[in-house]
Amino acid sequence: MKMSDISLDKTIEKLTRCGDLPDEELLRLIVDPAARAPLALAADSVRRKVYGNAVYIRGLIEFTNHCKNNCYYCGIRAGNKKVRRYRLTESEILNCCDKGYRLGFRTFVLQGGEDPYFDDERLCALVAAIRRRHPDCAITLSVGEREKESYRRLKAAGADRYLLRHETATPEHYRLLHPASLSLEHRKNCLWHLKELGYQTGSGFMVGSPGQKPEHLVADLRFLQKLQPAMIGIGPFIHHPDTPFKDCPDGSAELTLKLISLLRLLFPYALLPATTALSTLAADGRARGLQAGANVVMPNLSPMEVRDLYRLYSGKSHSGAESAEGLRSLRALVKAAGYEIVTDRGDAKGPEEKING
Ligand code: SAM
Repeated sequence: MKMSDISLDKTIEKLTRCGDLPDEELLRLIVDPAARAPLALAADSVRRKVYGNAVYIRGLIEFTNHCKNNCYYCGIRAGNKKVRRYRLTESEILNCCDKGYRLGFRTFVLQGGEDPYFDDERLCALVAAIRRRHPDCAITLSVGEREKESYRRLKAAGADRYLLRHETATPEHYRLLHPASLSLEHRKNCLWHLKELGYQTGSGFMVGSPGQKPEHLVADLRFLQKLQPAMIGIGPFIHHPDTPFKDCPDGSAELTLKLISLLRLLFPYALLPATTALSTLAADGRARGLQAGANVVMPNLSPMEVRDLYRLYSGKSHSGAESAEGLRSLRALVKAAGYEIVTDRGDAKGPEEKING
């Protein structure tokens, strides 16, 4: 479904002005390839009004690849017996944070599979230890679905933020991507619990996951409008050879970029990462993600020895800023794209610090 240039410009102008569109117009922007470039321009201008040219960095620590779940798309699913499993020790994780701190990171993202070893006691002790050593840093967790009480304890121990992608907001599509032991309803409830507890909450979805239709993407945007998360992470689905989806085609970088722009226009204040999956699929994915409206990058601070073991999909790039040199080249890349890395916690801005303000 192609729009004329005039109706395309008008639709994008309306989206920029109103911050929303009816379903059928969103759908048309999603399916029309000609919408990508003008959407990126509009998104970049909104992002500059709210966040200027700032790019926030988060140090990603992939601290366990053990997982009890069996998501059909994910390389570290329990059923993949080829994975060599690892867990970082508390002191290894603290070393990653210390190293990251020296480099200028003020947010640490602890991500892992759903690993029962990290029960509340162990995870709270870890969060509290990071909090004591780095009181000026934000601690983000991304360890999947837990009880509300567990989220409460982790928050009390010092966690500020939580990332939990909803993956897809359409129940039938969710069913196609996950085994019967997992439910969309439970995942959504977790997100509401995180919000209620006062976490800066992040959600998001994969682009081009098997069975995904443009209508599912509209449903994803609508769910996010209800949730109003502070952070939204999206990235293309990329197949992994040892999963049931090994023969499925990868998602597209172009559509991912377009959705980043749509997200920026629908959520001017959101923190939107240019994700690793995007830079895995396109060599210039990180820079193009920023130019499409993203304002966060999450270099990997995990020890080199485990990088290859946290393989969610094939070809996962580990370009990072684990060394001063690595961070220097990331700064240069961000600068060449027209932005500036800033050293601060990088909290989301709210409407009170609004445009023109
Ligand atoms: N266990 C936590 C959870 O469930 O939220 C965090 C780790 S999980 C591996 C992090 C994210 O990786 C998922 O939310 C999913 O969107 C993404 N992911 C997993 N497999 C992927 C694939 N094959 N292609 C792209 N992204 C993938």
